[in-house]
Amino acid sequence: MRTPMMAGNWKMNCDLDEAAALAQGVVEGVGSVEGVAVVLAPPFTALDRVASVIAGSNVRLSAQNVYWQAKGAYTGEISVGMLKSCGCAYVIVGHSERRGRFGVPEPDMTDELIRVFGDTDAAVNTKARAALAGGLTPIICVGETLAEREAGLTDAIVRDQVVAALEGMTPEQIGAVVLAYEPVWAIGTGETCEADEANRVIGVIRAAIDSVAGAGAAQDITVLYGGSVKPKSVRELVSQPEIDGGLVGGASLEADSFNELVAVTREVRG
Ligand code: PEP
Repeated sequence: MRTPMMAGNWKMNCDLDEAAALAQGVVEGVGSVEGVAVVLAPPFTALDRVASVIAGSNVRLSAQNVYWQAKGAYTGEISVGMLKSCGCAYVIVGHSERRGRFGVPEPDMTDELIRVFGDTDAAVNTKARAALAGGLTPIICVGETLAEREAGLTDAIVRDQVVAALEGMTPEQIGAVVLAYEPVWAIGTGETCEADEANRVIGVIRAAIDSVAGAGAAQDITVLYGGSVKPKSVRELVSQPEIDGGLVGGASLEADSFNELVAVTREVRG
C-alpha cells in the first residue's frame, strides 16, 4: 500500500505573515484529511512559523533543500538537525532548480540552463542519505530537460538519476524515500506532461528502483508527478495507476487551489 501525497513547494515565496496565512488556509481546508499526506515546503525562513500554524493538524512540514554536514563552517547552509528542530518531517532534494551547473541565470536562459545551484547526482545522493540518517524523508526529484526529451533521452536520464540518487542506500532506506518525476520543461511553464506519459515514465522510475533494491521494491514507494499540476489537470494525473500524487509549485501558493488538489487526490486515491 502506497500513501498518496500532495506536497506544496513554495519555492522563494512568502514572507512570515504570508506563509502563516497560507498555511492557515491549508489547515482550515484540509488539515484533518486522512489517507493523503499533505506536505508544505515553505522557505527556510518560514519553517518555524509554519510549524506553529500546522501543529495539531495532519499537515506535515518539509524543507526545500538541506546540506549533508551536521554543523560547522558551511556559510549559508542548513543541516538535517536544524530542519528537524524546526519540525520538518520531509526535505526536497534534487529539485531541478537546484541541479545542474553553477551560475547566475540570465533572463533568456532556456530550461537546461536555469538549473543554477550546481547540485550534482552525487550531491543529491549525499543529501538524501544524510536526510534518511537523520530521520527526515527525502523527496527526491528527477526529470529530463526539453532538449533531453527531444533527443529521445528521457528514460535513460531519469533511470540514471534514480540509480545515482539511491546509490549506497540499504533496501530499507530506499523503502523510506519519496520520488518525484518532474520533467524540467513542465515546471512553472503551465505545460503539464500528458498524464499517460507521466505514468509511463514513473513506470521507468519504478523499474530503476527495482534494479537497485530488488524486484517488487518499488511497489511500496510513493512516486509523485510534478510540473504545472493544477486543479484542472490533477484528476487525470492522480487517476493514473503509477502516480501517487503531486509535487506542486504555483498552484500551492493559493490555499484554495492547493486544497482542491488534496481533495481530488483524496477522492481518487485516498
Ligand atoms: C515544483 O516546484 O516542483 C513545480 C512542479 O512547480 P510548478 O507546479 O509551478 O510547475
